[in-house]
Amino acid sequence: MREYSRLYIDGAWQVPSGQGMAEVIDPATEQTIGRVPLGAEADVERAVMAARRAFDGWSRTASSVRAGYITALAAQLKSRAAEMASVITDELGMPVQWCQAVQVEGPIAGLEQYAELAGLMDEVREVGNSLVYREAVGVCAFINPWNYPLHQMIGKLAPALAAGCTVVVKPSQETPLHAFLLAEMIEAIGLPAGVFNLVSGPGAKVGEALARHPQVDMVSFTGSTGAGVRVAQAAAPTVKRVCLELGGKSPLLITADADLHAAVRHGVQDVMINSGQTCTALTRMLLPASRYAEALEIAEAETRALVMGNPRDPASFLGPMCSAGQRRTVLDYIRLGQEEGARLLCGGDAPAGFERGFYVAPTLFADVDNRMRIAQEEIFGPVLCLIPYADEAQALALANDSPFGLSSAVWAGSREHGLALARQLRAGQCFINGGGFNYQAPFGGYKQSGNGREWGEEGLAEFVEVKAVQC
Ligand code: NAD
Repeated sequence: MREYSRLYIDGAWQVPSGQGMAEVIDPATEQTIGRVPLGAEADVERAVMAARRAFDGWSRTASSVRAGYITALAAQLKSRAAEMASVITDELGMPVQWCQAVQVEGPIAGLEQYAELAGLMDEVREVGNSLVYREAVGVCAFINPWNYPLHQMIGKLAPALAAGCTVVVKPSQETPLHAFLLAEMIEAIGLPAGVFNLVSGPGAKVGEALARHPQVDMVSFTGSTGAGVRVAQAAAPTVKRVCLELGGKSPLLITADADLHAAVRHGVQDVMINSGQTCTALTRMLLPASRYAEALEIAEAETRALVMGNPRDPASFLGPMCSAGQRRTVLDYIRLGQEEGARLLCGGDAPAGFERGFYVAPTLFADVDNRMRIAQEEIFGPVLCLIPYADEAQALALANDSPFGLSSAVWAGSREHGLALARQLRAGQCFINGGGFNYQAPFGGYKQSGNGREWGEEGLAEFVEVKAVQC
């Protein structure tokens, strides 16, 4: 049981103004495994003003000093990596070996990258009679989701610190424990008071108060499109910068000349990692009609072979949904898919033996029409839609027929064929023939998947103001 009764504000663990505690539930056992404070607007006020006071000093430190703190944080995370992975497994339900790789090693790589990029803040561009300087954007509010909690946090925190920003962080109520552990690490490296502040609590209260606050210069939000719109509306009257990293319904376009086994297996695994609770999940698999029947067989065999189980068991490929609410949402969508006329190939509910925990078996729908709601809306569960197409022109049209544009993938007979298709997909990412995630490349969405970019130099640019000085 992890119990935190205080919030980390202005370099100290402070008694919250808000009343009450939020329970953290282990989704595999349905047991309470932690408690954190329910922050209130007064806590937001204290945290924002602490960040405001710290900003001038922190933003004027040498970039090498800021890089030193980021490197120290990476070292802290390395030294407590197993503990962090275990905490995220407990609160999220993601199998521990995935947590180690994606939720901890990824963030360490991200921190190390921004320790190197901090020096970019010193570059001055000369254009005509102007000198163009990079300066920190100011006080930043981070509103985070539960599905890749530390990964999303570090994707904002590392570039913000590198740029010289100060921050107030609000984790999701489902998965707040990792953020408290991170605050312990921040305290351990001696980051100056007020540079990092943590306020937990409900989105509609703490999140909106942050988005509205006139002393917050930028809000970086990762979460659902609906909540992102509300954040943008709350932020609009103060004209602050708003970076939105939102949902997706990403296509995997498999061509007729592709290695079908490799492509379909990859596609199934991509969706089922983290039980489908991945913003970039390739949840629409577009298959050439000429190879459709063969592809369904491969997909079904691969899906049935995936091991669902206790997330602490290293043999488990996927664990439970993060919450009872998310399980309900996913089961409602599965029922909807059947009503819409899609053919359920496997899954659909939790099999026997999974009465405790928020489990949903990996689920395949065949014969999906791309206009069905299960193909248009983000389900955020282990549900894959298999959609046949007649030719590549139709495949591209189907791929782009979505309100989202976060990610996409192509599996083709050659890299060149894949690249030609990738350029026609309206999405911020495209993975060809299983290409891996790259922390040096920008990540973000087109269309209703958002307007921000994280990671790489573009991720740093989100936290930068540019000043032109004429002389
Ligand atoms: P969510 O929108 O329910 O919540 C995200 C955060 O916003 C939480 O901290 C929540 O408390 C807060 N929030 C909710 N309502 C708010 C409001 N009115 N004002 C301010 N804050 C508010 O999302 P979730 O269920 O936690 O996360 C899943 C979603 O996140 C999915 O849609 C997924 O695709 C998306 N996501 C996107 C990315 C990306 O990089 N594009 C990455 C991970 C997750």
